[in-house]
Amino acid sequence: MQVFEIFRSIQGETSRAGLPMWFVRLAGCDLACTYCDTPAARDPAAGREVSVADVAVAVSASALPWVAITGGEPLLQAAEVNALVAALAAQGRGVLVETSGAHPIDVLDPRAVRIVDVKTPGSGMADRMHWRNLDLVAERDEVKFVLTGREDYEWARGLVSRRRLAARTTVLFGSAAPCLEPRTLAEWILADALPVRLNFQVHKMLGLR
Ligand code: SF4
Repeated sequence: MQVFEIFRSIQGETSRAGLPMWFVRLAGCDLACTYCDTPAARDPAAGREVSVADVAVAVSASALPWVAITGGEPLLQAAEVNALVAALAAQGRGVLVETSGAHPIDVLDPRAVRIVDVKTPGSGMADRMHWRNLDLVAERDEVKFVLTGREDYEWARGLVSRRRLAARTTVLFGSAAPCLEPRTLAEWILADALPVRLNFQVHKMLGLR
C-alpha cells in the first residue's frame, strides 16, 4: 500500500478524542477540499510502497490498542485497507478508517469503525459526495462535518434533521480553521440544542500532528 507516514499521536477528533493511538496515513486523495490540512498526502506519489504485513509489524512496536487509518483517502486502496484491518484485528486492535465520504463505505471490512466525512458547500467538494453512504452508516460509525461558516452550519443542520442522522449514528460538527471559531460553533450548537458532538481538534491544541 502507498503509505505517507506512520506515527503515534493523540486522537484529536471523533468520539475517541484524547485516546493515544497509531495513525497510518495513506497517500493519495482525489478531492481538493478548501481547508485540507494534509495537502502533501494528496499526491499518491508522495507515499512509499509498504506491504500490509510491514505496516502491521510497524504498529506492533507499541501496544496501543487503536489504529486510525487515514489519508489522503483510504478507500482509494480499499483492498489493502481491508487486509490491514484484518491483520490489526488479529492483533486484537480496534481500527478507525477515516474517509472523505466520496466513495462507497460498504466495501470496508465490517470490523472497521467508519468515520465518514460529509463534504459541505464550503469544502468545495459537496458535489463529490457518495450520498448513499448516509444510508449505510451504522450506530458504531461516525459522521463528521467540517464547517467553514454559518452557511455550512445551516446546511449541515438541515441535513442532520432530514436524514435523521443523530438517531442512527454519532454526528460530529467541527470548525475549519481559521474560517470558523470553535467557540462560535459551540454557541450555535447550544442555541439550537443540536444532538451533535463538537469535534474539537485536541491534537492541534497540543501541538501534535
Ligand atoms: S478529503 Fe481529506 S485529504 Fe482529501 S482533500 Fe479533503 S481534507 Fe484533504
